[in-house]
Amino acid sequence: MTHPDGSVHWLAIQVQVYFEGERAARHSTVGFGTSQDITERKQAELELERQTEMLGEHAELLDLAHIVIRDRENRIIWWSKGAARLYGWAAEEVIGHVTHALLRTQFPESFDAYQTDLMTHDVWEDELAHITRAGARVVVASHQVLHRDQRGVPNRILEVNNDITTQKRIEEELRCSNAELEQFAYVASHDLQEPLRALAGMVQLLQQRYQDKLDALGQEFIKHAVEAALRMQTLINDLLAFSRVGTRGKPFAPTSVEKVLKALLLSLSVAIRESGAAITYDPLPTIMADELQIMQLLQNLIGNAIKFRGDQPPRIHLSAAQTPEGWQFAVRDNGIGIEAQYFERIFVVFQRLHTRREYPGTGIGLALCKKIVERHGGRIWVESQPKQGSTFYFTLPAAL
Ligand code: ADP
Repeated sequence: MTHPDGSVHWLAIQVQVYFEGERAARHSTVGFGTSQDITERKQAELELERQTEMLGEHAELLDLAHIVIRDRENRIIWWSKGAARLYGWAAEEVIGHVTHALLRTQFPESFDAYQTDLMTHDVWEDELAHITRAGARVVVASHQVLHRDQRGVPNRILEVNNDITTQKRIEEELRCSNAELEQFAYVASHDLQEPLRALAGMVQLLQQRYQDKLDALGQEFIKHAVEAALRMQTLINDLLAFSRVGTRGKPFAPTSVEKVLKALLLSLSVAIRESGAAITYDPLPTIMADELQIMQLLQNLIGNAIKFRGDQPPRIHLSAAQTPEGWQFAVRDNGIGIEAQYFERIFVVFQRLHTRREYPGTGIGLALCKKIVERHGGRIWVESQPKQGSTFYFTLPAAL
């Protein structure tokens, strides 16, 4: 029917016909009619038809992906060939089935939590586990979009699933072997400490008691032995600290970085005084973190800023800025700086740019910092120019 304003409206018309007297006597028939405007419903149907047609046009492309379209009761209305390949059922076998029952979906939390999330945001993204027809477990990165009709009532859910089963398995294997390696490094360095302590003690005793009885060469040998034993102790302690980040980390709790820094400056007061360093800082926030590890992180960065100083006394400044990633901290110094080609390498265990004679150290400090920051879900990097000082940046999650 065309409305006086020119718009086309769809009507559902119901007519009831009553006959008076003989059925054949058509002239005496009385009819009652009702009509209902169903324009919206009709438009929604036409839109659905149009979209399904459009999907059809791109079927070949869409069939490569694992795509499922469901109605509001989660019954499958479209199933790509990609989905058929992944899950093992052909489209005609699954149309009309409830997806989550068919695929025995495991939700990150629960079905209710998932449903609420999708209805609230109209999009949903996370990992799901499904069981295929052959009984295999697949993990998918699922991207879902909820479509609503013109009145805002949900009518369809488009689900695109990315098979990440292999990636997940490799991640898991890597996690296991990393954990094993960490455990090994921990046990090895822990168990090495004891005999090493005995050895270091013995050579030191030798040095003290028998110094006068040895000639110059003998004394030189003993001096080297003592130094080597002490260096090895430092190395083992650093390795132990490094392997403890993952294996002995504490749960995260609200941690005031400013408070941690103040305590640290107190314990570094001798080094600060001797080097003539001036350490300043802006107000620093409270974050969710392992306090002891934040202390180790700052200790290494400030320790390096003092150690790798140039001709001027060290000027070190700490600041923090809020970013979408969380808090971004900066530790700036006026030291010797680093060439751009080494920006990545310095964060790798045992990688150093100087000989021990120039600057003492084991090359574990920045690797430890990286491990700590990554355990907190952040990143660490450096910006620097030789002789112009360095700024070490790291991000950490904000407190809830
Ligand atoms: P270590 O301090 O024991 O040498 P690190 O892992 O802490 O080991 O640092 C690795 C290397 O990065 C250092 O040997 C040094 O060359 C460079 N480096 C670290 N911090 C700074 C800094 N603040 N300024 C200049 N160079 C630095």
